[in-house]
Amino acid sequence: MKYLLVLAVVLVAAYIWKRNRRRDDSPLPPGSVKRPKAIAPTVMVACLQCGTHLPEAEAIRGQRGSYCSHEHRRLSEDGTR
Ligand SMILES: [Zn+2]
Repeated sequence: MKYLLVLAVVLVAAYIWKRNRRRDDSPLPPGSVKRPKAIAPTVMVACLQCGTHLPEAEAIRGQRGSYCSHEHRRLSEDGTR
């Protein structure tokens, strides 16, 4: 009788182990798949003064928009005041 109990415990343990393994093997639902982060596209902005396109990070921010240089920001925003 004691061996029967041990056998039952082993069978239950094996069942639980197999169930957990199957859950691990199952494909993940879409959306939870871990993908390597894609490199974010560089946002390009045009200089309001000369139209030159440059990365937003390098652009000079003015009151009306982006500029390629402080000189163009000054020309565009101070000239019309
Ligand atoms: Zn410019």
